[in-house]
Amino acid sequence: MNIILFGPPGAGKGTQAKKLQNEFNIPQLSTGDIFRSAIKNETPLGVEVKSILDNGELVPDETVVDLVADELSKEKYEDGYILDGFPRTVAQAEAFDNFLKENNDSLDAFISLTVPEEELIKRILSRGEGRSDDTEEKVKTRLEVYRQETKPVLQHYQKQDKVQEIDGLGSIDEIFERIKGALN
Ligand code: ADP
Repeated sequence: MNIILFGPPGAGKGTQAKKLQNEFNIPQLSTGDIFRSAIKNETPLGVEVKSILDNGELVPDETVVDLVADELSKEKYEDGYILDGFPRTVAQAEAFDNFLKENNDSLDAFISLTVPEEELIKRILSRGEGRSDDTEEKVKTRLEVYRQETKPVLQHYQKQDKVQEIDGLGSIDEIFERIKGALN
C-alpha cells in the first residue's frame, strides 16, 4: 500500500504517519526528518539544505526527487510506504507519478489533513521541539510557501480522483480512526 499524507505544516502528518507505520507495518518516509537528520550529522546534504530549512523555504525539487527515488528503491519499501512531506510541489508530484509508472506501481491513497490556519500556528508555536523553523516569523513563511507551492499539489491529485479529505481537528486517536476509515 502506497500512501501520501498531505497537509500544511502543523497538520499532524508526522504524528499520523508514525501511527500508520505501526498499524499497517509499512515504513514511513519523511523528507523533513531526513533533512533534519542530515543537518544534525553535518552530511553534504545537510550542509546543502541547512539555511533553506532554517528559513522555512523549500529544498530544490531535483534534490528532493533524487533523494526520495533513492530511498524508495531500498528493499524495506518493497511492500509499500507512507510519504510524509513529499510531494510538496507540482513538479515533485509529476516526478513521483513518473517514478510510480517506471516501477509499475501506483498510489493507493492520498490523505489530506485539513486544519484551520490559526490552529496550525498555535500547534507549531507550542510544540516545543526546538526546531529552528518553528518561530513565529518562519511559520508565516512556511504557511505562505504552503499556499503558493504546495496547495496546488492537491488539485494535481484531485484530477486523478485520489484525494480524501480528513478533518485534522480532534484528538490524535480520533484523527487516526478517521484516516483508517478512509483507507478501508
Ligand atoms: P512541516 O510540514 O511541519 O513544515 P517538514 O518536516 O515536513 O515540516 O519539513 C520541514 C522543512 O523541510 C520544510 O520547510 C522544507 O524546508 C524541507 N522539506 C521537507 N520536505 C520537502 C520537500 N518535499 N520539498 C522541499 N522541501 C522540503
